[in-house]
Amino acid sequence: MKWISPYLEEGNWYKGNLHTHTHVSDGGFSVDYAVIGYQHMAKHDFVVLTDHNYLRKMNPDKAISFEILNEQYKEKNFTIIEGREESFAHHILGIGVKMIYGVDSIRKDAKDYTLEDYQFLIDCIRQEGGLVYMAHPHWREFDHWSAQDIMALDGIDGIEIINGNRFSGPGNLATDVWDEVLSKGKKVWGVANDDCHSPATFWVAWNTVRAKSNSKSDLLAALKQGSNYFGNGAEFGRIEVQEDTLIVECSDRNVFQTCVKIFRFIGKDGECLKMQCGMERYAEYKAKGDELYVRVELILNNGMVAFTNPFYLV
Ligand SMILES: [Zn+2]
Ligand SMILES: [Zn+2]
Repeated sequence: MKWISPYLEEGNWYKGNLHTHTHVSDGGFSVDYAVIGYQHMAKHDFVVLTDHNYLRKMNPDKAISFEILNEQYKEKNFTIIEGREESFAHHILGIGVKMIYGVDSIRKDAKDYTLEDYQFLIDCIRQEGGLVYMAHPHWREFDHWSAQDIMALDGIDGIEIINGNRFSGPGNLATDVWDEVLSKGKKVWGVANDDCHSPATFWVAWNTVRAKSNSKSDLLAALKQGSNYFGNGAEFGRIEVQEDTLIVECSDRNVFQTCVKIFRFIGKDGECLKMQCGMERYAEYKAKGDELYVRVELILNNGMVAFTNPFYLV
């Protein structure tokens, strides 16, 4: 019996936000400002620009040349990835796919959208080679994306567990939906994103991806296999499996920033299988054998969190 880790053994850790809006749709920043902000201020390694693709606010004249943008940032080793937020009714993130202008084939009132319509949008993203994430499950109404809906759709890579746009409000955290889906046997990864529309939602939640490099192809390949943890500032210095034992350690930066660290090992139905609270920076979990999955939450006493993706036993 041993744990299978979603994390790449070789590689480095790269930080980035998978969900950003610009002047191309309803974002508060120009493309240049958004990119400068994430590269220069947040010191991230990549950003995905995911403007809304609904017609009302789209302006093809503002189309972004990702080739030119990436050329400009090559020396800074910063990667800008194209994406879009399918926003016809409930939102779906397509990562690594181009903005499509004029997609109007299934436009209708939000209440009339069916799961077949959403499956069509997901299939479009996959056909273009993109990754699919269900955006902000608790946006406005509690069941923007219910576990039931997510179970009924195929081709989903992950769920946006933390959405920075609602970081200070209720309903921003979707671990309940995630655990329900994982407990029903569907393997989907978690991500945390700014959903940046304004300075208030800039650099509040992000992903730390273990990848071979921060090239678009290496980042997408790593995300595809779940080689990321995510949160709003807590950092893991170590995420490791040794046979039937999961080992996590918080980074040096967190040791100096704070004292109390809570490690929670979460299993089926969101049950906390083990919790450790105190000064200790290291925690481990030994498999019992009947866990469907285990994921780890690191919570610091300054409010910062970091969540791993789930581990499975073989
Ligand atoms: Zn959205
Ligand atoms: Zn958005």
